[in-house]
Amino acid sequence: MSSRVAVVTGGNKGIGLAIVRALCKQFEGDVYLTARDVGRGQAAVESLGTEGLKPMFHQLDINDLNSIINAAAFFKQKYGGVDVLINNAGIAFKVADTAPFAVQAEVTLKTNFFATRDMLTHFMPLIKAGGRVVNVSSFVGCRTLNQCSEALKQRFRSDDITEDELVGLMQRFVDEAKKGSHKEDGWADTAYGVSKTGLTTLSYILARRLSKERPNDGILLNACCPGWVRTDMAGPKAPKSPDEGAETPVYLALLPPGATEPHGKFVSEKEVQPW
Ligand code: NAP
Repeated sequence: MSSRVAVVTGGNKGIGLAIVRALCKQFEGDVYLTARDVGRGQAAVESLGTEGLKPMFHQLDINDLNSIINAAAFFKQKYGGVDVLINNAGIAFKVADTAPFAVQAEVTLKTNFFATRDMLTHFMPLIKAGGRVVNVSSFVGCRTLNQCSEALKQRFRSDDITEDELVGLMQRFVDEAKKGSHKEDGWADTAYGVSKTGLTTLSYILARRLSKERPNDGILLNACCPGWVRTDMAGPKAPKSPDEGAETPVYLALLPPGATEPHGKFVSEKEVQPW
């Protein structure tokens, strides 16, 4: 139970794989590449092996509560908790996708907001003193909030929004998308954007809770944007390589012992951004 441990979701490709690569080089402890599909995950572990790196593997589908619970129990039993958690797994419909907006809203929020929240619900109690939690969000979440009604902006930016209120707002977006009324109800017309507005807001809420409930544990929790990165999600025209996209998430994951900031921030290019 002595070794330190870092856990990355959606580690089999894209930015997640690059985060695992960087942690294998820089983190002192075991690094877990997790993936929803065992075959894709193990192939990724093998590919890093050819680079001389030795990540470990655990199955983790964030949309499957049993998978989250099993993984959490594994890390608790084997390591007594988790030192670094990077919630990287996420999805985005392609612009050309013809799925109805209501479906895109439900499916996108399911993974990017509700399932990531399930991860945090089950893993936050495992985060050890001095731990680091990084939620890979997007600057799109910020831009999306700026396109929402004044009333929504006020709630998302308030210091007293609770997790329950946020969950209610995210569910309301899905319900209103299904009714076709989300735009007149004040939302921006982007499911991915709203999912990331929710994830960034959730990060603020959980960081405030950590400061209140575990003030002496030195845990730092932040949301970040990796930039626009060449992956299956963003396509080949993006300017950054996956390794470059991993830099800010890894910087936050490896904030040195004793650091007190950033905490409860949205960070891009290693700089705290306004919300
Ligand atoms: P990607 O190449 O499409 O990779 C996404 C990863 O998430 C894959 O490993 C995928 O696994 C995994 N995933 C999806 N649903 C999952 C689930 N239910 N459980 C576990 N893993 C799941 O995308 P990416 O560009 O690397 O994106 C990584 C993160 O960065 C996402 O949160 C994304 O929103 C964010 N981001 C990306 C950009 C960009 O420009 N690329 C910009 C801003 C933010 P499978 O292979 O099994 O599908």
